[in-house]
Amino acid sequence: MTAFLAVACGLFGLAVGSFLNVVIHRVPRKESIVQPRSSCPSCHTPITNRDNIPVLSWLLLRGKCRTCSQPISPRYPLVEAATAALFVGGAFRFGYDWSLPAFLVLFAGLLALAFTDLEHLLLPIRIVYPVLFLEAALLVVAALATGQWSRLGVAAASGAVAAGSFYLLHAINPHWMAFGDVRLAGVIGLGLGWLGALIALVGIFLAFLFGALVGVVLIATKKIGPKARIPFGVFLAAGAFVAIYAGHPLVHLYLRP
Ligand SMILES: [Zn+2]
Repeated sequence: MTAFLAVACGLFGLAVGSFLNVVIHRVPRKESIVQPRSSCPSCHTPITNRDNIPVLSWLLLRGKCRTCSQPISPRYPLVEAATAALFVGGAFRFGYDWSLPAFLVLFAGLLALAFTDLEHLLLPIRIVYPVLFLEAALLVVAALATGQWSRLGVAAASGAVAAGSFYLLHAINPHWMAFGDVRLAGVIGLGLGWLGALIALVGIFLAFLFGALVGVVLIATKKIGPKARIPFGVFLAAGAFVAIYAGHPLVHLYLRP
C-alpha cells in the first residue's frame, strides 16, 4: 500500500514541481502566478500542453525551445524531479499519516524558497506566509484527527523559539541574519517541532553547519569575499530535509551512551 502512496505522491510532486517553477520565476519579479500562461523566456512563444509535461518535455526537446531553439534552464526539470523525489521520500517516511500533507507543503515551500534565495537572495513573503498558513492549518487538522495536541503544542513552541532566536541574531546585527531567515526559521521550527523539539534543533544546527562548511570553502577558493551575503535559506532548507528524513537516527546516534 505504501508503493501506491509513493507513486501517487511522485506524480503529484511532478505537477507541484511544475507549479513551483512558475512561482520561482514569477514571485521575485512580482508577476502573477495564475496568468498569463507560461512562455519561452527568449522568444515569448506560449508553451503548449505537450511541451509542458514535467521533466519529460525538457528531455524530449533536449533542453531547447521548440520555436527559437534557445536553451531552457535545467532548473525546470531539476525542480520538478526534486519535488517528486521529496514527495516520494515523504510517502515512505510518513506513510498514511495525517501529518503527511503538512510535510508535503513544507517540502514544496522550502524548495521554492531555496531557489528564490539562491537566485535573488530573496525569501518572498508571498511564498513564506501561504506556506506557514497551510502548514499550520494542516497540522491543526492532524491534531484534530489524531488527538495529538501535545505534539501541536511542541510544534508551535519550536516555531516560536526558532523564530525568536533568529530574531535575536537579526536584532543584534542584521548582517548576521536577514529578516527573511527569521520568518523561515519559524516555518521550519513549526514543521520539525511536530517531529520533536530535538529534531527542530537538529535541523537548525545542520543549517548552520552546512552554511559554515560551504561558506569556508567558497571563501578559501576565493569564489566569494569574507563579507559576501550567502543565501542562508538554501542551508535552512537542506538542514530541514536532512532532519525530517534522518533526524531520529541522528539523535539516537548522538545520545547513545
Ligand atoms: Zn523560444
